[in-house]
Amino acid sequence: MQFNKIIGHAALKARLIGNLREGRIPHAQFFLGPRGSGALPLALAYGAYLLCEQPGEGDGCGQCNACKMTAKLAHPDLNLVFPIFLSKEVRTCEPFAGEWRAAVLEEPYLDDEGWRVRLKGENKQLRMGVDIAGEVVRKLSLKAFAGGWKVMLIWLPELMDAYMANKILKVLEEPEPRTAFLLAGHSNDRMLPTILSRTQLVKVASPDPGEVASAVLQRFPGLSGEQARGIAARSEGDLLEAWAMAEGREAESFLFLRDWLRACYARKWEEAVAAADQFAKMGREPQKGLMAYALYLMRQCMLHLQDLPQLITAGGEERAFVQKFSTVLDMASLEAVRAELEAAYGHLERNANPKVLLLDLGYSLGSLLRAKEGATG
Ligand SMILES: [Zn+2]
Repeated sequence: MQFNKIIGHAALKARLIGNLREGRIPHAQFFLGPRGSGALPLALAYGAYLLCEQPGEGDGCGQCNACKMTAKLAHPDLNLVFPIFLSKEVRTCEPFAGEWRAAVLEEPYLDDEGWRVRLKGENKQLRMGVDIAGEVVRKLSLKAFAGGWKVMLIWLPELMDAYMANKILKVLEEPEPRTAFLLAGHSNDRMLPTILSRTQLVKVASPDPGEVASAVLQRFPGLSGEQARGIAARSEGDLLEAWAMAEGREAESFLFLRDWLRACYARKWEEAVAAADQFAKMGREPQKGLMAYALYLMRQCMLHLQDLPQLITAGGEERAFVQKFSTVLDMASLEAVRAELEAAYGHLERNANPKVLLLDLGYSLGSLLRAKEGATG
């Protein structure tokens, strides 16, 4: 994780990097911020910068061996501990390290709920106990693999029990040289004051609504700007919440478009009329958002037809749709579909009647989709 991948926090990033460059590196820091604010990615970027072989003015270089390893959370001097479902048999987190890495690489803003789902234990409690403290002490007693810094990242330190907290106090009190403790969590009220007093607090605020809106559009390009701003306002700066809302909204848009395109292709005009009625009730911005999303799907189809799967960003059901839809199209008809959709977007901007527009569009697309011989749908 590099600083440049983290949404918002411009001032905080500049301060952290400034301190790093001037060699003001506290022995222990607690990145404390609400869910979806980025406390974990910030701590990871900080650790990656410390381990980078040629850190730049604004970020780790991203190119050196150390950066390549930290990008996979696999640098041997980047030690990771995190809560697990403690039991008599399960006491250390090392056996789950691969799973944790995969979860964080997939979603660097991971929260305890996401981790719980990943570990498939919805009703169990995540905790860290004395044996995990043993792992911390043991890992720190080893020499740094690369001869530089050793980073100890403790995720969700608020889930340490008192035995663990007491056991790591000593290593916090008598720091080894070139060792950086990075704690990243959401709450400090359940933590021992003795731990807190030995860590420097790095307060991570929620990103502002404009930053959340652009983060939403980046992941969900099918949404309109207004939809993204609405989601940002409702999410109160929680990026995980915002992305979840956007996913729901995009799933609705996807189903609507998929069913409508299928109806047009199969010439099921009753269904197309019902879709046009539904479309007419949506409001101008969501209508434009749907057209923008349809254009996005067509671009994905073009990439599929041009055999550029590495550039396709659609996943899951979307991707399956793109693959299937591409079989009824060639580049010429796809280009014609794209032109129709773009024209429709323009008409919506000029306040065309949305019902008439979607019906007309449906007829035109219906014939374009059947232009290729031997089409299957
Ligand atoms: Zn580097």
